Amino acid sequence: MQTKIGLEIHCQLTGLKSKLFCSCGTDYRGKEPNSNVCPTCLGLPGTLPLLNKKAVEFASMISLALDCRVPEEIMFYRKNYFYPDLPKNFQLTQYNAYGITSIGVDGSLQYGDDKVARIRRVQLEEDPGRVVYESGSMEKSLYALVDYNRAGIPLVEIVTEPDFSDPKDVRLFLNKITSIVEHLGVCDTKLEGSVRCDVNVSVQGGLRVEIKNVGSFSEAEKAVRYEIARQKTMVSRNIEVKAETRHWDDARKITKESRSKEEEQDYRYFPEPDIPAITLGKDFVLSLKPSMPELPDARKERFISALGLSPHVAQVLIENKELADFFELTIKLYNSPKEVANWIVTDLISFVDEKDREGGNLLAGLKVGPEHIAELARMVEQNTVNRTMAKQILGQVVRTGEMPSVVARKSQATRIADSSVIADAVEAVFKAEQSAVADARQNPNAANFLLGKVMQLTKGRADPKTALELINKKLRETT
Ligand SMILES: [Zn+2]
Repeated sequence: MQTKIGLEIHCQLTGLKSKLFCSCGTDYRGKEPNSNVCPTCLGLPGTLPLLNKKAVEFASMISLALDCRVPEEIMFYRKNYFYPDLPKNFQLTQYNAYGITSIGVDGSLQYGDDKVARIRRVQLEEDPGRVVYESGSMEKSLYALVDYNRAGIPLVEIVTEPDFSDPKDVRLFLNKITSIVEHLGVCDTKLEGSVRCDVNVSVQGGLRVEIKNVGSFSEAEKAVRYEIARQKTMVSRNIEVKAETRHWDDARKITKESRSKEEEQDYRYFPEPDIPAITLGKDFVLSLKPSMPELPDARKERFISALGLSPHVAQVLIENKELADFFELTIKLYNSPKEVANWIVTDLISFVDEKDREGGNLLAGLKVGPEHIAELARMVEQNTVNRTMAKQILGQVVRTGEMPSVVARKSQATRIADSSVIADAVEAVFKAEQSAVADARQNPNAANFLLGKVMQLTKGRADPKTALELINKKLRETT
C-alpha cells in the first residue's frame, strides 16, 4: 500500500526581540499570563499593525536555505476564523493569490544520504495565543483560560509536498530542518513549543487525514507511524478512511478524532488593508545571501575538506548545532580535529541519555566542556594515558566535571613512563619469580608472563612497551 506524508512545520522566530506586528517581547515563556501584551496584539479597535522588518529577513533566510524562490513583493492576508486564542478573530498570515506569493515558494531540501523533499511554500505569520484548560485537557475541564502572551509571536510555516512515505524519513527531514534553523540563529528549537508540526497522512485507497497538535519533532515520527498503521488496518478491513482532522494525544501516543470542525470552514482570506504590499526588490535577496550564517551542508563540507573528518563523523556533528559548536570550540583548545571529533561522536555521545538525544539539548545533562575533551585528547595523543583508561576517565569527568588530569591523578591511572620506576618493578619481579625467569631464558614467549607480573605490581600503570624492553634487556644481561 502506497503511503503519502506531507508536513506543515511551524517554527517560532525566537531569535527576534519583538513580536511580528508590535513591540511586545518574544520572551513570553514563564511570564504572568497576559502580561506580555499591548493593544495591538490584543486586537483592540483602532490599533494598527507595524511589520517587524527583521522577521521578514529571518523568514527570507529560511526560504533561501530551503532553496525557495523569494518574491520581489509580499503581502499579508487575514485568515478569518473564530477561536478564543485569536484576539482579532483573524490571523495575519500569507497566501498565494493575485500573482503574489508567500515569502518562499518552490524549494527543495536534501536530507538523509541522498533523499530530497520538495518545499511547497514558506510563509510568515503570527502565532495565536494559548487556551489553557483548567484540568489539563479539553474533555475533563469545566472551564478554560486564555493567555495572549504568545499572540503575535513571529512564526514561519514550512509546507512540504507529500514526498515522504517512511516515518523514519520524516524524522531525518525534521532533524535537518532543526539543524538549519539553529544554524541560521532564527529559532531556538530547545524552547518548549518553539517548533510544532502538523502531519498529513494518506494510504492508498483512503483520503487524507491531517494530524494536528504534534508538539515536538520527535513526536512526529511516532504520530505518523501510528496513523499509517491505523489507516492500513481500516483499508484492509474495507472501512472507509474519511478526510478528517485528528489530534495527537501526547500522553497515550495515539491520534484521536477531533471534536472541533472549525478547520473545515472557509477562511475567507482577504488582503490585510492595514499593511500595504511590501516591495522587497531584486537586491534584497542578493544582499541577504552573503550575510547568512554557514548552513549545515556547508559546514559538513568544511569539516571534511579542511579538517579531514570522515563524512560520517562530519554528518553526526552537523546534525546537532550544539555538538558541532562544541567540536569547534574544542579544536580551538587542542588542534587535533580527528582525535577530538572521535571522542565527541563515539565516546561523549554514549553518555547522553536516550531521551536527551531527541531534544537537541544534547550535552545539558553532562558536566563536560570543550576544555575537558581537549585535555583528554591531548593526554591520549601524548601517551600520558592509554585509550582504555581515557574512556574510564571520561566516565568520571561527565559525572563530576573534574578535569581529566585531576581524575587521572586521583585514580593513579597515569601511565608510568619513568623507566627507573619500571626498572625497579622489573627488578622486584625477577627476584620473586625466579623459575619463570629461568623459563623465559629458554622460551622468549614466557617473557609475557613476567610482563604481566610487572603490570600487576604497577597496577597497570607501567608503559608495557618500556617494561618489555627492560625485561628483555635484563634477561640478556643475566644469562
Ligand atoms: Zn503587543
